[in-house]
Amino acid sequence: MPLTPTDKIWMDGDFVDWADATVHVLTHTMHYGTGVFEGIRAYRTPNGVAVFRLRDHIKRLFASAKVFMIDIPYTVDELVDATIALVRVNGLDDGCYIRPLVYLGYGEMGLNPIPCPVKVSIAAWPWGTYLGDEGVANGVSTKISSWRRHDPNAVPTAAKGTGMYVNSSLAKMEALRGGYDEAILLSADGNVSECTGENIFIVLNGHLVTPHTSDSGALAGITQRSVETIARDLGYEVVYEQMIRTDLYAAEEAFLTGTAAEVVPIRSVDDRDVGTGKPGPITKQLQQAYFSTVRGEIDRYKDWLDYVR
Ligand code: PMP
Repeated sequence: MPLTPTDKIWMDGDFVDWADATVHVLTHTMHYGTGVFEGIRAYRTPNGVAVFRLRDHIKRLFASAKVFMIDIPYTVDELVDATIALVRVNGLDDGCYIRPLVYLGYGEMGLNPIPCPVKVSIAAWPWGTYLGDEGVANGVSTKISSWRRHDPNAVPTAAKGTGMYVNSSLAKMEALRGGYDEAILLSADGNVSECTGENIFIVLNGHLVTPHTSDSGALAGITQRSVETIARDLGYEVVYEQMIRTDLYAAEEAFLTGTAAEVVPIRSVDDRDVGTGKPGPITKQLQQAYFSTVRGEIDRYKDWLDYVR
């Protein structure tokens, strides 16, 4: 998906031109993956463009930074305000994607990151459906990856650390090369964890099951938590539970959730149709409710929106 440049990128407190938002080749994070980041979306609502769960994302950015012992030289409020200003300055509209990045800059080499300068950037650009309109409408094909998810005692899977995403990239390439849309990763001990950039839900006996984040090595997704709330409000039972690959084969429905991907039905796992091979009724209902939520059409969830006025 080629990037569509916008006007400005926020870098360390200033708006700089897109083309000038560059770093030195000896930037520490480029070599060792020592940064943390977020992925956020903004949508058009009846009251103007709004960023979905902005504060929760920025708080998770700080939580990730804490794990990596990075002191972000801004407050949550400052980065919330900078994000809103960035969307406004660039005149961005429905579905745009926002990427805050905290990285260690130029000045030191070697594996001790502590002396490195902490740098912060926020970029935003128009971004369509991450897994394609066809995937959103009819579901994606998935394959269990030969790559395992990280062991949480090898790297902190609860944090969004930049370097950790080599695992996702390897799994994504393998899935695409094999003719599948997305990979599903198993945890180090063989339970279902998540996809390369999305959490996973299945429907079993009419209720929703999603892997427990701490023991599966999955990220605690903000979309996952949003869908959990929406599903409970619609009367569904939602449980965080261990699952194994055959639970995916036996599922009545399955879908994945993520800020970039949104809510996407899983059509097949390892060449086995999920249910009928078409998006199921619960998946469709939750997908619709999620889209209505992010676009400010459901009063109950209005607190999740930060308006870009
Ligand atoms: N798992 C991984 C590995 C991810 O990168 C993401 C995207 N941030 C998710 C799950 C979904 O998280 P969220 O719903 O907060 O975007």
